[in-house]
Amino acid sequence: MKKMTEAGSLLEKAVSGRRLSLEEGVRIYRECDLLQLGRTADLIRRRIHPRKIVTFIIDRNINYTNVCVSKCKFCAFCREEDHPGAYVISKDVLYEKIEETLEAGGTAVMIQGGMHPGLGLDFFLDMLRSIKERYDIHIHSFSPPEVAHMAGLSGLPTGEVIKRLREAGLDSIPGGGAEILVDRVRRLVSPHKVSWQQWMEVMLEAHRQGMSTTATMMFGHVESVEERILHMIRVRDAQDQTGGFSAFIPWSFQPGNTSLGGRASTGVEYLKTLAVSRILLDNVKNIQASWVTQGAKLAQVALSFGANDFGSTMLEENVVRAAGVTYRVPLDEIIRSIRDAGFRPAQRTTLYKVVREF
Ligand code: SF4
Repeated sequence: MKKMTEAGSLLEKAVSGRRLSLEEGVRIYRECDLLQLGRTADLIRRRIHPRKIVTFIIDRNINYTNVCVSKCKFCAFCREEDHPGAYVISKDVLYEKIEETLEAGGTAVMIQGGMHPGLGLDFFLDMLRSIKERYDIHIHSFSPPEVAHMAGLSGLPTGEVIKRLREAGLDSIPGGGAEILVDRVRRLVSPHKVSWQQWMEVMLEAHRQGMSTTATMMFGHVESVEERILHMIRVRDAQDQTGGFSAFIPWSFQPGNTSLGGRASTGVEYLKTLAVSRILLDNVKNIQASWVTQGAKLAQVALSFGANDFGSTMLEENVVRAAGVTYRVPLDEIIRSIRDAGFRPAQRTTLYKVVREF
């Protein structure tokens, strides 16, 4: 009982605007119950977002290739270069997908792929320029492991690669490939991917060059509670330096068709993790609910557990689908879910500017 009271006082501390430490974050995760955490996260969310608006974006994921040298153990999407299902997108298909996005009222594309051994920096510079020549669309693309891969293939420093991508039309960088920002975990689930410091350095460099990025967290596999919380603290520390993270997006590992296997997180674990991220990340304004991994019903509940954003309408999504999870939520259902949860739905841009309220 005494323990609960002490952990409860940490929640009061967070509500009053004082920052919790790594150890305090672990304690509230372990010792507070779901509804205590949810109530606290909701109070903080209301302070940061006093208007009862929940945003979403109309955009599309485009995966330019499924060939990837990284072979992460949680990935059901990647293929060997000589696999019959391996592909590299053609420009015609790319343009078609962008046109469909614009026709659906979309404002952005998130272009990501595997780390193809044969696609160098010039391929991406040409892709960016050719899109910008044709379309007025925000390009939110290439997660830090891809940027680091381009740097490795080109022999250029990461900062120079980011500069060239930006000049060619890259507008912002998605937070993919973060998984858990702790190297012990990364060695187990994605041993060929960048270290957590390299991931963060790409983001900090992008921020220094004036670009906005997001931060993600894929949890619920081999990490401990301490490592999950440490991930949040590392994002918070980086945000203190640059302020460049527009949003934090936690989602749970989907084990289907992956070599890592195991079981998916429960809804309670998802909601607790989401709430704790809102409580700890006092310098990140937007926290996203993930209907892609949790379904619209739990994402709706997440709006009372600290989330203020419903993410993307995802006109196309391939990576989570490859793991056997196929939630499909049409736009009118997203709007209905937000409204039914007591909020006003609003379409936003990648940079969280509201373009239309419903
Ligand atoms: S998760 Fe991404 S980086 Fe890892 S193997 Fe799959 S496509 Fe490659």
